[in-house]
Amino acid sequence: MKWPAWFRLLRNPRPLPPASPTACPACGDEMVVVEKFTMMGDDIRTYRCKRCKTEHDIDFGTALWKLMSDANERDSGE
Ligand SMILES: [Zn+2]
Repeated sequence: MKWPAWFRLLRNPRPLPPASPTACPACGDEMVVVEKFTMMGDDIRTYRCKRCKTEHDIDFGTALWKLMSDANERDSGE
């Protein structure tokens, strides 16, 4: 059985995984979700960093596509 790309990503994590998508871009702390509803069909959520006291909108849809694109590029080179 051939596993889809996303499953291989989960089974073979990167040696140096990128920062968590919910980590604060400023200080790296894990942020807490503020709103859980999606807007306009996009998977965008608002997270709040306790340390910086700032809120960041995380676009999970875009992040996922970038992740899969990167994986495909690496696969073709191996
Ligand atoms: Zn922060």
